[in-house]
Amino acid sequence: MKIGIIICGRYKSCDGGKCFRAIRNHEGAFKQYPKNEPLEVVAYTSCGGCPGGNIENSINGMKKYGAETIHFATGVLAGYPPCKYLTTHIKFVEEQTNLPVVIGTHPMPTNYIEMHKKIGDWTPYHYKLMEKFTLIDSEESKKYDSTREDYTSILQKELK
Ligand code: SF4
Repeated sequence: MKIGIIICGRYKSCDGGKCFRAIRNHEGAFKQYPKNEPLEVVAYTSCGGCPGGNIENSINGMKKYGAETIHFATGVLAGYPPCKYLTTHIKFVEEQTNLPVVIGTHPMPTNYIEMHKKIGDWTPYHYKLMEKFTLIDSEESKKYDSTREDYTSILQKELK
């Protein structure tokens, strides 16, 4: 599967480590693809910052480079607050490219789940998306919580 990834502009300097880890492990939203199916990122960009103008600029290029599915990175839901333009972004990308759109990349880290629960800014719509795209899984979510003391050792074990 050839994938294009659009990340939230608030995280434009993100190293992408969690997304690529999830691709490698077929975790989070990448669980939908069979374990033995190779996953290739053919394009990766940011939305350009609110309200997401770079989506319009980049989406045709992603298709040209062979993207068969467009993933919005988990940060669009993880950020405080979650992206308020998401429904427009989803509709626009679907209409413009005729490609399936997936909301999410890596599993939602536990520290984000806990904070969003405290501040109450996730709506039923957001929970529905996270359920549909398998972003909340207690074991995987724990593994992606980089505030854990043993985070680095978990990563190192995976990479051996
Ligand atoms: S909140 Fe939405 S529009 Fe704003 S930077 Fe993030 S993805 Fe882009």
